[in-house]
Amino acid sequence: MTREELIARARAAALKAHAPYSGFHVGCAVESVNGEVVTGANMENACYRLGVCAEQSALTAAQHAFGLAQVARIVVAGGPLVEGAIAGADTVAPCGGCRQAIYEAAALSGRDVEVVCAAATGDAVTVSTIRELLPSAFGPDALG
Ligand SMILES: [Zn+2]
Repeated sequence: MTREELIARARAAALKAHAPYSGFHVGCAVESVNGEVVTGANMENACYRLGVCAEQSALTAAQHAFGLAQVARIVVAGGPLVEGAIAGADTVAPCGGCRQAIYEAAALSGRDVEVVCAAATGDAVTVSTIRELLPSAFGPDALG
């Protein structure tokens, strides 16, 4: 799948977010080494601290579909919901906790997972790897 197609999948997933408190919808598309794609979106909760980010939602789906060790690429996109559409031209990046979750997939596979941060609209995008986003990470190897 092309990067643009994956961004479209992440943007579509953002529309399925449950984000009534922040109003900030984030979608994530995870692609496997074999080209399978799963998506997720942020899921907020009235007990605020129990919310789940889009990346961790999508990584859970990835584990069920093809396994974390097969994750090759992750695309994140989102922004505020405005009149039924996701708005905003600024790229969205994974939070620290999600970087740790993405690193888990990278550590399991021994591959540096590509992370694409896109905006809700427009062409702005940043492309990096999880090792760039989370240097000197704590991972499974640290547990012996
Ligand atoms: Zn997060």
